[in-house]
Amino acid sequence: MDFTYREYGTLIELLRASGFTLEKFQQAPVEERKAYLRHDIDMSIEDAFRLASFEEQLGVGSTYYVLLDTGFYNAMAAGSNARLRSMAYMGHDIGLHYVQRSHLDEAPDYDSALLADICRQCTLLSEMLDLEIATFSFHRPTPQLLQKKLIVPGLSNAYASPYFEQGAYISDSNHHWRCGDPFAFISEFSGSSLQVLTHPFWWNPDPVDPRRKLRDFVDRLADSHRATLIHDVGLAASVFEKALP
Ligand SMILES: [Zn+2]
Repeated sequence: MDFTYREYGTLIELLRASGFTLEKFQQAPVEERKAYLRHDIDMSIEDAFRLASFEEQLGVGSTYYVLLDTGFYNAMAAGSNARLRSMAYMGHDIGLHYVQRSHLDEAPDYDSALLADICRQCTLLSEMLDLEIATFSFHRPTPQLLQKKLIVPGLSNAYASPYFEQGAYISDSNHHWRCGDPFAFISEFSGSSLQVLTHPFWWNPDPVDPRRKLRDFVDRLADSHRATLIHDVGLAASVFEKALP
């Protein structure tokens, strides 16, 4: 596996050739061959935007899940906000990638507090992007959270049993397909529902060493924070400006 767009395109072709119809999470699962393409934006909206543009060229609509609780990006920042809205106009769905907050563990009624927090964050994201947010996925869920089989009125949960347990679920988490070769898995899979989770960060137009990608990502973050300091904090200019290329 080289995690190139060409390879991703071949994966889509295989899904279609294997009789799968590509669906969104909002639509009720039915007893036919349905594949759900899911992308969790754990690190970079720029990478997600690039993959979304590639999918648009393929005529594919998928679902991108956005973190609110992350230090890597800010969905409200002008560039990120515009990219996410553009992705929706391309035909993709945008959902919430929810991080369970530790203070909820202390709530007297955990389930209600969790449900309220998910709804509140979906409303926030919807307001930020001026888009309907009707789906969510969990970021690094604990087994206990997954066992909840949480049903939230008006929202689809990518971990709900129709998408997660009744069918199959394969993922490229940490640049590694736990299912083994995904092409072989899809070719041999005879069930009705298949969720394919890919993280846009790992996918590139050309092959990239994942360690190199991570190092470049950290460098880009540092450059971005330095530029923000110079533009937004007056005093920082005299400290950092000469250090910028
Ligand atoms: Zn995640």
